[in-house]
Amino acid sequence: MMEDQVYGYIHSFQSLGAVDGPGVRYVIFMQGCPLRCAYCHNPDTWAMAGDAPACQKWTPEDVVQRVLRYKEYLKNGGVTVSGGEALMQPEFVEKLFSLLKENGMHTALDTSGVGDLKAAARVLKYTDLVLADLKFSDTGDYKTYCGASMDQVLEFLRLTESMEVPVWIRHVVVPGLNDSEGQIRKIGEIAKSFKNLTRLEILPFRKICVTKYEEMGIEFPLKDYDACSQEEIDRIEKMLGLAPGGYVR
Ligand code: SF4
Repeated sequence: MMEDQVYGYIHSFQSLGAVDGPGVRYVIFMQGCPLRCAYCHNPDTWAMAGDAPACQKWTPEDVVQRVLRYKEYLKNGGVTVSGGEALMQPEFVEKLFSLLKENGMHTALDTSGVGDLKAAARVLKYTDLVLADLKFSDTGDYKTYCGASMDQVLEFLRLTESMEVPVWIRHVVVPGLNDSEGQIRKIGEIAKSFKNLTRLEILPFRKICVTKYEEMGIEFPLKDYDACSQEEIDRIEKMLGLAPGGYVR
């Protein structure tokens, strides 16, 4: 019997990205996210496919053909699936990654870690690297500022550990919100407790997304917070004993 065709709802593509994983990456932004992180840069990816008429419906096979046109440039990098939340469309990402692996491509999954764990495990079978944000150091703040349960994120990270998929944990620093010494040390502790952690990356909160929020008629929840400076990032990397760029092991 023929396998049912799988489709993915995609917000956009970035052909040569440099920040979402190692080397030069082809980045696929999936449509739809169940979280509402206060500092989200991509509120235009939030709406689920049915409510986002501008998103595009793709087969994994067609996406692979599109990626392979750039194969030469991606030799030391690969493909990153981001969002939105990639794990909201696990069948598509599983199929896409399996085809990319058949074509010798490195695959990275950029995820909040919120999603069905069984489906996530099927995606992780074909995933070379996970990029996951911790966002906050305690469950109360996570619920308040992201609208979801941090326990789910930690369960997802434990799954990556048990499946031995390397993980980069990233923490976006919002001055005055999640950068106290206690919060930072806790983030470091949680991140380093995972044996599969290969990089802890400290990233600055930026406000370049404000225009997007204005265009969408949504108030940016962190409009009164200052952007994070490089000095602040340097301070935090030093506090956590990280080399510049945040490498751990
Ligand atoms: S998980 Fe990512 S896309 Fe979803 S709200 Fe948070 S930052 Fe935005």
